[in-house]
Amino acid sequence: MQSVIEVENLEKLYNKKRALKKISFTVQQGEIFGFLGPSGSGKTTTVKILTSQLLYSSGRVRVLGGDPGKSRHSEFLGKIGVLTDNSGTYERLSVYDNLELFCRLYGVPVQRIDTVLDEVNLMDDKHTLLGRLSKGMKQRVTLARTILHKPALLFLDEPTSALDPVNSGRIQETLRAMNRQGTTIFLTTHNMQEAENLCHRVAFLNNGEISALDTPLALRLKYGDRSITVTTKEGKRIVEKNEAGADLIRDLIVRDELLAIHSNEPTLGDIFVELTGRGLE
Ligand code: ADP
Repeated sequence: MQSVIEVENLEKLYNKKRALKKISFTVQQGEIFGFLGPSGSGKTTTVKILTSQLLYSSGRVRVLGGDPGKSRHSEFLGKIGVLTDNSGTYERLSVYDNLELFCRLYGVPVQRIDTVLDEVNLMDDKHTLLGRLSKGMKQRVTLARTILHKPALLFLDEPTSALDPVNSGRIQETLRAMNRQGTTIFLTTHNMQEAENLCHRVAFLNNGEISALDTPLALRLKYGDRSITVTTKEGKRIVEKNEAGADLIRDLIVRDELLAIHSNEPTLGDIFVELTGRGLE
């Protein structure tokens, strides 16, 4: 598989503060890659460097084969989509007029607007003024704007923060569909459930350092609890995953006393706390 993002020993200093401390990772074509970390861990700094909005201090960065610090700006921006909280949409224009403005900016035929509105499920509000939309709908307009020029690589910085679960779910559905059609997605979030739902691989960022990087499943297996909860008529009890635990479960089955058995799977949030000693919020 081809890497679309390659980062090696990336360091970023703001005056003397080290916001990124020699981080390394790659993102493969077709992946949804999650960058998880609490506020202040360096997520936005990383996105800004990868999207050529900020220069880095040292290390090696390649995005779509070029160095974003040195790429010709307009050409580079034409190949990527970036969704951050500074959305740059206009409240007093309709959804359609907002998108038409960006079509002209990107040189995209206006016929594309309907396709994109369909993708983000906003066709019914095509002519509604942006100022009249809910926060979740506005975020979908911003997403529509981000994908107008069909970028092969999409950067999303906290795309569902401050959205309710229904609207978050809708955005996640759209992202999954886009990914199925081939868009590579780099997503930052402090919402572990979102990462669990969407991401093929995740990196845990803590204080400017990556403390783990793998698929959610591999992380759960590696850092998972070594115990199982069994339920009998007497109640629930925790059984260790070892020889004695297996004997006990076998015994309960033979005596027909076993009602239920559950593995104690940690969430990505539990693993983050285990690795870093702090939560994601
Ligand atoms: P996150 O996106 O994970 O919340 P940021 O990348 O915004 O984290 O910030 C990482 C660290 O860098 C934080 O300690 C933050 O205070 C610091 N930082 C971010 N931007 C600047 C800046 N322009 N000047 C100085 N420090 C900054």
